[in-house]
Order: sequence, then structure tokens, then C-alpha cells
Amino acid sequence: MTDCTFCKIIAGEIPCTKVYEDDEILAFQDIHPVAPVHVLFVPKKHFADLSEAGPEDQALLGKMLLTIAQEAPKLGLSEGYRIVSNYGGSAGQTIEHFHIHLLGGKYMSSMG
Ligand code: 5GP
Ligand code: ZN
Repeated sequence: MTDCTFCKIIAGEIPCTKVYEDDEILAFQDIHPVAPVHVLFVPKKHFADLSEAGPEDQALLGKMLLTIAQEAPKLGLSEGYRIVSNYGGSAGQTIEHFHIHLLGGKYMSSMG
């Protein structure tokens, strides 16, 4: 996707503060953090949201969660963290490249 901000970050065309990278996943600091730790986990493969993911993405989606579980303690989040993925405008999705927010480092009240 040539006009996708996260594809440009993955391609190195937009700089980011990298937290984790492998052949399928990139994680980097959110540019407008809403918590002391706010990292975005992004598949290198472009799909806008979960509605565009298919059975072929099952392993990748599972790997994203396991990667978050692996990296969260390294980011100081052994006490707990929240993961969020916004889907659609009514949920506040602004970048149409699937991503999971990892949030922590402060007390977070219940969602709503
Ligand atoms: P969404 O609102 O789609 O769930 O989350 C998109 C997130 O991407 C937002 O939290 C926003 O701050 C972050 N973001 C948008 N553009 C950039 C960018 O160019 N670099 C980084 N690091 N984060 C970005
Ligand atoms: Zn993209």
C-alpha cells in the first residue's frame, strides 16, 4: 500500500522508534502516547483490519499476541498491561493498517 503510513514506516520511509522486529512483525513507539508505555505492534503484511484478515493470517495474528506477551515484560510491564485494537471509525481507528496497541505503565480504569 503506497499511501499507508504504517507501510511507509515498515519500508523505512517514515522514521520510528523501533521496539521489536522480526520478518513478519514490527513494533514501535506510538507518536502520541496515551500511557507511559504505548507501543504499536504491526504486521508487515498490509491488511486494513480484522475483516480483511483470512485463514492464511491465523498464525500471524497468534504470533502477534505471543510476541506482545514476550516483549511486554522487557518494557517494564510485568505488573500488567492492556492491548487494544480499534476497528472502524466508530472505534477510533485512524490508520487503516491492522495494529495492536500495547499500553501500560500507569493504572488504567475499566474500559467503556
Ligand atoms: P488507531 O487510532 O488507528 O487505533 O491508532 C493509530 C495510532 O498510530 C495512533 O495512536 C497514532 O498516534 C499513531 N500514529 C499515527 N501516525 C504515526 C506515525 O507516523 N508514527 C508513529 N510512531 N505513530 C503514529
Ligand atoms: Zn499498510
